[in-house]
Amino acid sequence: MQHDALAPRYVRNFSCTGSKCPDNCCHTWQVAIDAETYRGYRTNPAVIPLVEDKIAENRDLTTKDTIPGYFKMDPKTNRCSLQDTSGLCQLVKNFGPNALCQTCTTYPRSIQQLGEDLLITLSDSCPVAAKSLITQPDALELDFAPVAIPPNPYASGVDVPNAFNARYQLLQGLITLLRHREQSLEMRLFICGLLIQKVQPLIEANQEDKLEETLGLFYSLVEEGYFEEQAIELNKKSDGSLGLVILNTLRREHQQQHTAFNEELTRALKGLNITAKIPLGTEHLNQLDKARKKYLTNLEKKQPHALENLVVNWLLGSLFPMKSENLMDGWTNLMARYLLLRTLLSAIGAEQKKLDTQDLIRISYRFGRGVSHSKILNTLIVELIGRNLNNTAAFSLALNP
Ligand code: SF4
Repeated sequence: MQHDALAPRYVRNFSCTGSKCPDNCCHTWQVAIDAETYRGYRTNPAVIPLVEDKIAENRDLTTKDTIPGYFKMDPKTNRCSLQDTSGLCQLVKNFGPNALCQTCTTYPRSIQQLGEDLLITLSDSCPVAAKSLITQPDALELDFAPVAIPPNPYASGVDVPNAFNARYQLLQGLITLLRHREQSLEMRLFICGLLIQKVQPLIEANQEDKLEETLGLFYSLVEEGYFEEQAIELNKKSDGSLGLVILNTLRREHQQQHTAFNEELTRALKGLNITAKIPLGTEHLNQLDKARKKYLTNLEKKQPHALENLVVNWLLGSLFPMKSENLMDGWTNLMARYLLLRTLLSAIGAEQKKLDTQDLIRISYRFGRGVSHSKILNTLIVELIGRNLNNTAAFSLALNP
């Protein structure tokens, strides 16, 4: 089915590789079944024999109406019990793709109704999507045109608290600034943080005209190189408090249910010689800094668009200026995610004594899975709030633009 939608280029080119996928999505996660499909599984006489002992009822009364059940996992393999030995889904094999529930049919797409437009992005937790983001410089080129959508997809409405037009304008402004490739990604993130701080009161007061003026001013200041001087001043003050909070979160959250993500966390901790017994200190931050320069910065020179594409994709997927009542909360989420991934990549580089494009794809999609199915990001955000590090000044010091 084709549908007119706003979508980045890599969404239009996406095709699930199914049984050839390097790490398919039918394991570890508990797949929620939507109400209509669940009813069909329980009442269709042709389907019942295949699914009856492979689906479990949701006993949580608060979510039961929208998610009446889940697919069971095979306890030996932790894979979906409907997957056959060759990795194919038995529902698709026997009844075609229309037999899938909304979660399976939609993943890795995120389909959101934004005003009049449908916006479609992909989750970087899918290895094929992560590969496109990392290897294709133009993956995030946005177009409004027909996009292939699978049958029975899940589409969510975007609840915009106020100032729809101003927020939409800000979203476009942030994407423009983040894609200004003449500057380092850190510098672009630094500038976006300053912009968000500046426009928060304008959004609250729904001052669309002033927002446009401020965006125009920021674009010209970027062209004039105005922010470079501020960044030089900041570099002198740089402290490691936010870096230590991230390392501490990695250490505390190291035992994850998601095996592949846990493997990456273990590598990262080993790369920086972090153990449960040794107190974290400046020497760990120095090692991290060296690893970042030696491995991640080198890789960024070869793939300058890779981390930018991931960040812009998170921005589009979360639609944060559209959804967040408080802009700084949405920005904190994105910055915490970025700094966590940057730390992981640098530390894993130190452990492997290399970091190449394949590593970046593997770590990014595993990070995407781990972050969406663990508390690690929330734990980090709570820590940042508790230590008053959820603000532009603290992020700027950690970015070291
Ligand atoms: S992870 Fe992506 S490519 Fe792999 S099976 Fe799932 S949707 Fe397809």
